[in-house]
Amino acid sequence: MSARFDHVLAAVVAVGDELVLGQKLDTNSRWIADRLVLRGLDVAAHLTVPDDVDAISSAIRRFAERVELLILTGGLGPTADDLTRAALAAALDEQLVLDERALEQVRLWFTSRGREMPEQNRAQALRPQTARMLRNDHGTAPALHAILDNRCDIFCLPGPPHEMQPIFERDIEPTLRLPPERAVHTTVIHTFGRGESDVAAQLADLMDRSRNPLVGTTASLGVVSVRIRARGPDGPQRLRETESLVRTRLSEILLDDESLAVDVLNRLKARQQTVATVESCTGGLVGEMLTSIPGSSQAFVGGLITYTNELKHRLADVPHQVFETEGAVSKPCAIAMAEGGRAHCHADHAIAITGIAGPDGGTDAKPVGTVWIAVASENAPTDARRFLFKGSRQAIRTWSAATALGMLRLRLAGHNMRLLNQQEP
Ligand code: AMP
Ligand code: MG
Repeated sequence: MSARFDHVLAAVVAVGDELVLGQKLDTNSRWIADRLVLRGLDVAAHLTVPDDVDAISSAIRRFAERVELLILTGGLGPTADDLTRAALAAALDEQLVLDERALEQVRLWFTSRGREMPEQNRAQALRPQTARMLRNDHGTAPALHAILDNRCDIFCLPGPPHEMQPIFERDIEPTLRLPPERAVHTTVIHTFGRGESDVAAQLADLMDRSRNPLVGTTASLGVVSVRIRARGPDGPQRLRETESLVRTRLSEILLDDESLAVDVLNRLKARQQTVATVESCTGGLVGEMLTSIPGSSQAFVGGLITYTNELKHRLADVPHQVFETEGAVSKPCAIAMAEGGRAHCHADHAIAITGIAGPDGGTDAKPVGTVWIAVASENAPTDARRFLFKGSRQAIRTWSAATALGMLRLRLAGHNMRLLNQQEP
């Protein structure tokens, strides 16, 4: 069913005691608002309310007077504290009725897993009289859609993000109806290797706030993303022109994908090459980043977690002498780990990481955050670089893993630029 009126203004309501009490972070509102804004809507407000019928239903009534699209998440479970259905019924001034088809779907969710439906899950098949149920393929709670006062679309979605997001993408996003002058066309281009301010400086003229398209940057773990957002009927043409300017100016640092791991795996697969990892202070994080991508087995052979010097020696052939003269956090150690690990793992490339993640263990010469990363490849000299990362132990480890992938990417892309946080050798 498509929407009957234009959607210009939206609001998001997160339902749950655990959110209000600070025990859990409301990530749904951020995700939903981001999607709506990308599509051209304005978001008037986010509200977080407890599991309480009055709080939820008065939020619904209040927002329905101001916005054309209201999205609630949470409170659709089978237990006594899941009250969104009842609150929606109250706001609509309707009774709850049992939806036989939804009941069948909830029952099927259990029987297809070899279980019998607990009696209390019947409640999830209840809906206000004029509401309709939206199938949930990833959990038991069907979502709900209702229209209030013939002017506001209200959607109630389940709380778990992995259930909520597919329903949003299937049943809400395609039905949004925008007045033509608000149509928005967007694209995102990801880069790695330069800091956000460097990237922004290179795009300064394009980032003027009065320009259409608008160009903005965001940064996360060394990946700087450039968002382009064009409005109006000639949006697609404007978007293409600006995108091409951005791509030309940033050609050296463009990523294939938002994820460095995807970019690196794609490049390896295209060359039919493999990589292995030899990790000390990151304890397997690089392997985790690679294996989280489906199909990584075509290019990632596996890795060694060599935390102690003894294991660096036994598994990666780092000579004992290196520990005695240079220490485990040193250029020769990183190089030996990468080269030894590559040989033992029979890979075309190996990435090695050795560093001081803290909070203890730093010295004046090697402060906490000092990390050596090396990339060894067949037929190329091993590239070893020293970095100094700031932040908590976890931040230093995560930055190390991402930067290691970035170094491999430089090798695969044939670039040799200095990276963020890199120090003189
Ligand atoms: P509920 O649908 O209220 O039973 O929520 C089910 C699960 O989804 C709970 O573990 C919640 O913590 C989680 N959840 C609910 N709302 C949100 C939200 N706004 N952001 C992130 N997680 C949520
Ligand atoms: Mg809840």
